[in-house]
Amino acid sequence: MEKRTELADLGEFGLIERLSSGFALTQTSTVKGIGDDAAVIDKGNGEVMVISTDLLLEGVHFDLSFHPLQHLGFKAVAVNVSDIAAMNAVPTQITVSIGISNRFSLEAIDALYDGIKAACEHYKVDLVGGDTTSSRAGLVLSITAVGEAKKEDLSYRSGAQLADIICVTGDLGGAYVGLQVLEREKQVYLANPEMQPDLAPYEYVVQRQLKSDARTDIIHEMREQGIVPTAMIDVSDGLASELFHIAKASDKAVQIFEDKLPIAKPTFDTAVEFNLDPITCALNGGEDYELLFTIKQEDYEKLKMHPDIHFIGYVHERDKGMNLVTKSGTVVSLKAQGWQHF
Ligand code: ADP
Ligand code: MG
Repeated sequence: MEKRTELADLGEFGLIERLSSGFALTQTSTVKGIGDDAAVIDKGNGEVMVISTDLLLEGVHFDLSFHPLQHLGFKAVAVNVSDIAAMNAVPTQITVSIGISNRFSLEAIDALYDGIKAACEHYKVDLVGGDTTSSRAGLVLSITAVGEAKKEDLSYRSGAQLADIICVTGDLGGAYVGLQVLEREKQVYLANPEMQPDLAPYEYVVQRQLKSDARTDIIHEMREQGIVPTAMIDVSDGLASELFHIAKASDKAVQIFEDKLPIAKPTFDTAVEFNLDPITCALNGGEDYELLFTIKQEDYEKLKMHPDIHFIGYVHERDKGMNLVTKSGTVVSLKAQGWQHF
């Protein structure tokens, strides 16, 4: 019998590693290929171009029964801009490719593009191209984002040093909890279409899911302070998973503190209502699109008063392990669940 290996045995990251392993980099301008939030291409004058792409599929990444098309358009741009920001680069251009079926009206596609346009204005990026095709399997949306930076300003996943302080922006777990609310309300609606969902108490978490925002503001603020994060990644799959990426790429490990994890009150309360552990939501919920980065200790003074940057732990030797110090002071191993696509 022919051998058949299930993709689930490799997982998403194992699959990417395998697919990309046979490709050598031959161009001298390719500074960084696969393996960070964006690829890095040398422009030759001390400047680099960074480039990142994402594919969003209906039924996998979004559910049009509760994702308004306008928000979806904005979010699709935001998640790509977030990858550019995660390199400590400034986004400049995007391309947008769509696959659509005749299920969509012109008005629907207009709404999608209203959101894309709003995001282009918000992040100051130009729409410079794309592709349009018909689809038989729902809406397909693929965006590529380009950005610019000076070579020395880039933050790779691999730059974390011993004793660096681990920082995260905003708050965590909200987007995941918001998705639970939306999915519950959808089930209620399907069971009884007369029922009008009351989303008002969940406004914060629902907007965390539907109205993702990339933290380009933080990139500009750090630039003004003269700070270059030693390593950076955006929180798309969940904090724990991203910590593993930084640790692995930097050949280090981390010590983080449960009581330092930023969780907004509406996220905490809604998680409890859904019988979810708010800490697990903060660690493993995805789609927050906050920035996770490490800084040298000497840069702490400049950021310590920042209202939206939280200091959650520090970098230590790899053999000390990936640790979470609980509120009671017990050290437990961090587990990266991330998202299982297959
Ligand atoms: P992110 O979550 O930041 O979008 P991913 O986890 O999707 O990053 O991807 C990790 C790395 O693998 C990136 O450098 C990405 O460009 C690369 N990658 C993902 N899928 C493929 C593929 N099919 N072929 C080549 N490279 C890929
Ligand atoms: Mg990323």
